[in-house]
Amino acid sequence: MGDVVVIGGGVTGIQAALDLADHGILVHLIEREPSIGGHMAQLDKTFPTNDCSMCILSPKMLDVSRHPNIRISTCTEVIGIEGDVGDFRVLIRKNPRFIDEVLCNGCGDCVQICPVEVYNQFDAGIGVRKAIYKPHPLAVPDLVIKDSEHCIECGLCYDICGREAIRREDSPREEKIRAASIIIASGYDVFDAVKKEQFGYLRYPDVITSLEFERMMNASGPTGGSIQRLSDGKTPDHVVFVQCVGSRDIPLSRPYCSGVCCMYAMKNAMLLREKYPETRVTVLYMDVRAYGKGYEEYFERAKSMGVEFLRGMPAEVIGEGGDMTINVENTETGEMVKLHPGLVVLSVGLEPAKNASSIAAKCGIPVEETGFFKSIDEKVNTVATIQPGIYIAGTAVAPRDIPDCVAHARAAAMRAFLDAVQDEPA
Ligand SMILES: Cc1cc2nc3c(=O)[nH]c(=O)nc-3n(C[C@H](O)[C@H](O)[C@H](O)COP(=O)(O)OP(=O)(O)OC[C@H]3O[C@@H](n4cnc5c(N)ncnc54)[C@H](O)[C@@H]3O)c2cc1C
Repeated sequence: MGDVVVIGGGVTGIQAALDLADHGILVHLIEREPSIGGHMAQLDKTFPTNDCSMCILSPKMLDVSRHPNIRISTCTEVIGIEGDVGDFRVLIRKNPRFIDEVLCNGCGDCVQICPVEVYNQFDAGIGVRKAIYKPHPLAVPDLVIKDSEHCIECGLCYDICGREAIRREDSPREEKIRAASIIIASGYDVFDAVKKEQFGYLRYPDVITSLEFERMMNASGPTGGSIQRLSDGKTPDHVVFVQCVGSRDIPLSRPYCSGVCCMYAMKNAMLLREKYPETRVTVLYMDVRAYGKGYEEYFERAKSMGVEFLRGMPAEVIGEGGDMTINVENTETGEMVKLHPGLVVLSVGLEPAKNASSIAAKCGIPVEETGFFKSIDEKVNTVATIQPGIYIAGTAVAPRDIPDCVAHARAAAMRAFLDAVQDEPA
């Protein structure tokens, strides 16, 4: 029986790894970041049930970490792939964590004492972390990482760590893994809202992205779950969500619908109305795409909770002396509407991960014009690629929501399973 390599430890990679491991296959789960979890770990709640995202994901992350058939390699990237189905050699590079992974028990004393604060990627830019840090409280593996770029070598962490787990020096290590098949689940990046200059992202402090909003809404996020204007810390009295930022935008080479933004905007609008009943919430949209089971009902629920849906896209966000104005034509009535939001949330689309084309090149598989991985058949064989034994799953293939990612992961896992057991006696 062969092993399987899964590239990417988001919900797609996690589900594929668990399914294979439960069927007796040894899985090598390769994750570039210091923790598995991917984007789902950053979300507050998930549509359409509004369940807490980590309450669903965290048990799966723990299952992965405890599964006897799964080897997790974090801070790790694939640097080369050779061979064919049934006999791939996958060359990986483990980047330095500057931590002894056996000695560290994740207590966090070093994090407490570290005096350096830097931009926190996990909080999508609105929070800070230390130079030695744990990506988030429920990180798997439960280990810290030292960011050597920002560490000032003050020595406090070495002194406080009773287990002597922190390394002054560390270097990358390479390893070759043999595998019968490979699943690529390297996910997506969110659209860089700076490219839509007219909306003033990073120019006006009270224009934020939907991912930043998710982190703000989260009780363990940088604001402890309270929605605040970044300019003055006040609760906004009117929040405007702008849809299709970096989706359905042909001039920006993003012609596709990101599939999840209508739904996540409804989710966040409802959560906002629940938490701040006095706050007015308006969603500016081209058309609402609520295509899944229970999704139309979810839309109706948002409306019944007082969320205003205004069909029209603003040309720009005008910021003057701390106030913001949005002029928008209601395309249902032809009426011009002037809004003065306290906070603008840009519903940023999903785009191919920046490294997708480099992974594709290593695997000898194509990407589509959009940059997402290309399957051999978009109707009945969406996980197979032109290379036998190399499968693709989740948002690496196309924008999709979590339930679809999980279903796709399971399909890819079963195809990889068949390759792994191919030479097994019946
Ligand atoms: C603001 C926002 C809100 C959302 N809300 C919801 C919601 O409420 N409900 C819902 O169903 N969906 C929601 N979504 C969509 C949801 O985030 C995705 O469907 C899901 O997280 C995709 O999972 P994934 O594993 O495919 O990708 P990702 O979560 O992107 O995971 C990919 C993983 O691969 C790793 N990786 C990338 N490249 C490499 C490499 N070369 N080597 C190793 N590892 C690599 C990454 O670090 C990452 O951990 C939302 C999306 C956004 C932007």
